[in-house]
Amino acid sequence: MTSFSAAIYRRYNLDLQHLTDAELLQHFQAHPEERRLHGSTASTVEHLSMRWLRGRGLEVGAGANPTPLYGNAHVEMADCDEGLAFGGSRIDAKYSIDDPDFARSKLDRFDFAVASHVLEHADSFLRALDHLLLVTKSGGIVYIVVPDINFLMDKNWLPRFEFAHHVEEYESPLIHADLHDQLYTNGSGAGIWHTNEIAELTPEYRAAVAAGLIPQEQRFLHHKHNYSFNDWLDIFERAQKFFPNRFCFVDARYGHERSDCHFVLEVI
Ligand SMILES: [Zn+2]
Repeated sequence: MTSFSAAIYRRYNLDLQHLTDAELLQHFQAHPEERRLHGSTASTVEHLSMRWLRGRGLEVGAGANPTPLYGNAHVEMADCDEGLAFGGSRIDAKYSIDDPDFARSKLDRFDFAVASHVLEHADSFLRALDHLLLVTKSGGIVYIVVPDINFLMDKNWLPRFEFAHHVEEYESPLIHADLHDQLYTNGSGAGIWHTNEIAELTPEYRAAVAAGLIPQEQRFLHHKHNYSFNDWLDIFERAQKFFPNRFCFVDARYGHERSDCHFVLEVI
């Protein structure tokens, strides 16, 4: 838990600038639900979480790196993988983010939803985004972090897909499954075993990759789509038009600590 700093509370909350240090602390203690920066942060994820995430949230696929939370915020952990291949210690709900059942039972329940380094694994990027928006209340926050392809081996084998590709997968998530498996097994080569330092790649998965036939239940382990910051931004902007009046951007920035791309959306 980051401690309160009157200087930071004053600097980042211009509406409170007139208050004394004691009054600032009083305000902070009286309004733990308000989305405000109130202490020092060391990374992009800490900064954006402190600024935007309050109330009851859902984090999808957190693995070994759950998003840090501040103030009055707590989460349920959801993951499609009971085996916790990407680490972590608990699952509160077993869900795949692009599974239609995911949204049906969770509709409009959460103040925020987080998917960090998850959507690049989804069979359907747009369906996953759709569901994150669906399970979040109006006025709530969807916080998505995706990698930058330029800093991963993905750049050697993953093509740049047009938006139409994502629309096709929105309508039918596995329509390009064979193409994605082929790209992965053919293009990634021997270095494939070193592409993820956290995931425990089982012998079955490795054998499947070597044979070019990846079982559906293990497809979540590798990336389907990845882009540069600019191309991700373009996809989110097109998604905003594809899902009219569903969300607006409240922040988008580059995370230099992990070379990743951060998008903070407010649900309309
Ligand atoms: Zn695809």
